[in-house]
Amino acid sequence: LMGYVGFASLPNQVRTKSVRKGFQFTAMVVGESGLGKSTLINTLFNTQLYPPKEQLPPSAERPQTVAIESISADIEENGVRLKLTVVDTPGFGDFVNNDGSWKPIVENIESRFDSYLEQENRVNRQKIIDNRVHACLYFIQPTGHSLKQIDIEFMRQLHTRVNLIPVIAKADTLTDDEVVEFKARILADIAHHQIQIFQAPTYENEDEESLAEAEEIASKIPFAVVGSNQLVKIPDGRDVRGRAYPWGVVEVDNEDHCDFVKLRQMLVRTYMEELREYTNDVLYENWRTDKLLSMGV
Ligand code: GDP
Ligand code: MG
Repeated sequence: LMGYVGFASLPNQVRTKSVRKGFQFTAMVVGESGLGKSTLINTLFNTQLYPPKEQLPPSAERPQTVAIESISADIEENGVRLKLTVVDTPGFGDFVNNDGSWKPIVENIESRFDSYLEQENRVNRQKIIDNRVHACLYFIQPTGHSLKQIDIEFMRQLHTRVNLIPVIAKADTLTDDEVVEFKARILADIAHHQIQIFQAPTYENEDEESLAEAEEIASKIPFAVVGSNQLVKIPDGRDVRGRAYPWGVVEVDNEDHCDFVKLRQMLVRTYMEELREYTNDVLYENWRTDKLLSMGV
């Protein structure tokens, strides 16, 4: 079932809450332009959230600062409604001097916390709109070396405010061995800099199957992803989403080819509700405490 996104499992992910209102989920994408962010979002949600780009003429003026742009779509699957918002950050990492590129992004995340706090403080709290960012996909350039200064700086500044999910962009440009080594170096950098990335939570009374699933997903971080919304024919006659090369097709939905399926499981099928809960219970609470302390409350 290729077009199936999988958030229809949300009512099962949510054990207690009412599901009739539908769900709000906000994902942010960060990374240099051209790393495949828009393509991956379209691939994940099987939509044309981002229409094909018109090519800018070389003379066109390019912005000199990081912009924050958000797009929303209502998608429905098996009777479950999801209001998806994607926050894009064009310009990040694209300048000669990228010092402080993370600042407008932190400010955006915190202003969404502010808006939530303001709604909580209202007399009528029935209709709170949750525009907080529930996950941030951070796209790492597939250099095969290690993290760059800008990657480390960004993650260090953001990890206490948002669920970070690092991905290796355009993994089809690396060999399998290069991916393995690159992942090891990235994880070593992340550990060395004490960066906290989102981990699928496990519970004491969890069944073996769920534990195994959580471990499987964790073992793939940082997810080596390939995005494509093009159908290509493979030798057995099937049409699959993939990228065609002279030597063969890299299939998006084939777990032997890349980690797209595991990323989708993390973000959509299994842990979407956990991402929302962690945002509310830990990230937002910590921000709120910091804020109240800084105000001398
Ligand atoms: P963005 O600027 O990060 O949003 O990148 P886009 O999604 O616009 O993609 C930039 C270019 O990279 C386009 O030509 C895409 O077709 C191509 N692209 C996107 N994803 C992949 C991928 O996984 N592998 C490869 N090789 N190219 C990709
Ligand atoms: Mg884009």
